[in-house]
Parts: sequence; C-alpha cells; structure tokens
Amino acid sequence: MKIEINTKNKDFLVTLFKEYYFKNIGLLSPPIQMHNREFGFMTFDGRVIRHLTFSKIGSLKAYIIQNVPSDIFCSNAYYQFPTFPINEKRWRGADMIFDIDLNDLTLPCANEHTFYICSNCGVVSRDLINLCHECHSTKILKNTIPCFRCINSLKKETKNLIEFLKKDFGIQEQNLEISFSGNTGFHVVVFQNNYLLLDSKSRSDIVGYLMGKNLSPESLGVRNDKRGYRIKIPLSGYSYGWRKRIVQKMKIPEVSNDQLNKFIKKMGGYQSFKNEIDKIAYELGLKIDPQVTTDIHRIFRMVGSLNGKSGLSKIVCNDLDKFDPMNDSCFFEDDRNVDISMNIPLKFSIKGKKYTLDKSISTVPISVAVFLISKRLANIVNSSS
Ligand SMILES: [Zn+2]
Ligand SMILES: [Zn+2]
Repeated sequence: MKIEINTKNKDFLVTLFKEYYFKNIGLLSPPIQMHNREFGFMTFDGRVIRHLTFSKIGSLKAYIIQNVPSDIFCSNAYYQFPTFPINEKRWRGADMIFDIDLNDLTLPCANEHTFYICSNCGVVSRDLINLCHECHSTKILKNTIPCFRCINSLKKETKNLIEFLKKDFGIQEQNLEISFSGNTGFHVVVFQNNYLLLDSKSRSDIVGYLMGKNLSPESLGVRNDKRGYRIKIPLSGYSYGWRKRIVQKMKIPEVSNDQLNKFIKKMGGYQSFKNEIDKIAYELGLKIDPQVTTDIHRIFRMVGSLNGKSGLSKIVCNDLDKFDPMNDSCFFEDDRNVDISMNIPLKFSIKGKKYTLDKSISTVPISVAVFLISKRLANIVNSSS
C-alpha cells in the first residue's frame, strides 16, 4: 500500500536517513555474487524501483547516498541478467529465506500496541477500523510497536526454526544468517549450495513440513479402515524429525507395536490419536510466512539498511538471547533534540529510556522522533538544537 507522508515529515526523514548512510555505510556489506543480484528500492513517495544492478558495493553506496531511499532490497536470487524482466533474467538459483513476523504469531498482547492509521489524514485509532472516521478514507495502515513479550516470542520462534533447519535438514550453523528485520520480525537466510537450486514447489514443501502441515497418524505408521486401526512401525523408526517430536510430546514410553497400541486404546482410539497429533502439529509447527520462502524472485531487505517503517536498521544478530531491537538496531545519535506532535498519546521505550508522550508538543531526542515519525504516530514540528 502506498503510504502518504507529509512533506515536513518526509524532509526530516530524508535528512536523517542520509546522515545514517553517511555514518554507517560500512554496515552494508556486498552480497555474495553481487553482480548477479537484482536490487530494488522504495522511495519516500511509496514508489518501488526494481531491476537495478550494481557490480560493486561502492556504486551501490553512492546510489543510496544520492537518492536516499526509504527501503533497500536485494534479490535472494542469482541471475545471468539481473536488469531484464523477470522471465528473461535467467535464474541461476536463490538463497533460501525465512520470515518470522509478529503478524503470523497472533499474540494476545498485540491489541495493546497495535495502531490503525489513516494514510490520508493521519488519524490514529487503537481499535480496528476499515474506514477513517475523520476523512472517510479506506486506506488504513496497521502498525505495531512490539513489546518485550512480542520480541521474546519472535526470538523463540526463530530458535525453533534454526533447530528444525539444523536437525531435520542438516543445515550447518555457519551457513545460516539470522537478522532482525528492523521492524516486527526476524529473517533467516540459508546459504547452503544444495538448497540453492530448489524451485518454488520444493520450497513450499519445506515450509509445509516446518509448519507441521499434513501430519497424520499415518505419518507414524497408524492406519485406519473399516476394521479399525492397524500399526506398522516405520522402518526408519521414531528417532528423528516430526515422528520423534510427536512421540516425545505424547510421552509414548518405548515405541513398540504393543506399546503404541495400548497408548492409542487408552487415548480413545484412532480419532482421538489423530486429534492429538493435530494439536501437537499446531503447537510445535513453525509460524512463518510461506510466501516469503516460496518466492524465488523476491527482493529482500538488505542487512545494514534502514527499515522505512521504523527507522531501525536490519542487522545481523550474533547473539539472539542478548539482542535488544530498540537498542541494538537504533543507530541515530541523540546529539540533538527536535519538537514533535503526537497523533495519539503513547508510552514506549527506546535506547533504555522510557517516554510518556501526550498529544501536546514534546521535545525529544532524534532517535525518538525518527522512530515515531516512521511509524506514522508523530509529526515533526520544527528542529531545534
Ligand atoms: Zn483520515
Ligand atoms: Zn506484545
């Protein structure tokens, strides 16, 4: 969705984003086989520019400082001709990518920090609206400020994904890159050659597996027909993958035909066993965005770039446990203050400081202003030093 942004806010963000890239341009590192990648940008006017190529990191950096995009993307795919239309690019493989986002986790706390913003007039509501009550526009943007619990849930889900990739797919730790998206999620990229050439369908199968789709008693060797259920222990046993997870979760003691039979009987039969598997699949299955992983032509946010929806940086997390997005991803120096007016009263924390802002004009550090204006929750009033 194209998001309208007023000129004063836009000018303020452009100046600060430019300053960020001047000071932190080193955070943008060249992707592997840079000359085979497609680059894309989002402008502050909401336009998407795609099908560009840069063979050297220096020319990319020069472009960024000159044009100051709101968002910077690079293809996960490698192409022979990155600037050509999609069908003529000659696809040569793509890194496997995963997106873990708050939108897919549906946490109970979401209502406490989700906002609905009219992208026409800027009115903010804490309640879900489809129509702006001020200007009747239907262009409503959803925005959220993840809380501590949200971040912990995202980290937990990311760790689960990494465990699946390592244990079930044999992907080595050194071939994984874990990063904070700069807004409400984490990205995981697999740089491992044997996954590079997988087509969209194969990637979709992997996502289905990770999400625990289509698991059934049959997956564990339990079949049902008119005469009742029959058990045939799979040759490869229950020592890895989903079978192991299910057997462990159900606490089935020693998996023999007899034991399993007793267990299912005690449970109430085939249907109850099936229901329990569905429950476990939902509970342990990953909540990831399938579209991101199955898209083999995607342009994906670049590490080291700013996220235009938050003003925070997408950065690699070397220690997921210790990572604090509102501190470690905020690179704006608070050497100046600016005046902002809020569209809604708000309490939040950034860089270890708590802020309680009402609807009157407040003087705040640069980091606060960039974050809240990017979130469309505040407007710049003027700059003061
Ligand atoms: Zn409106
Ligand atoms: Zn939360």
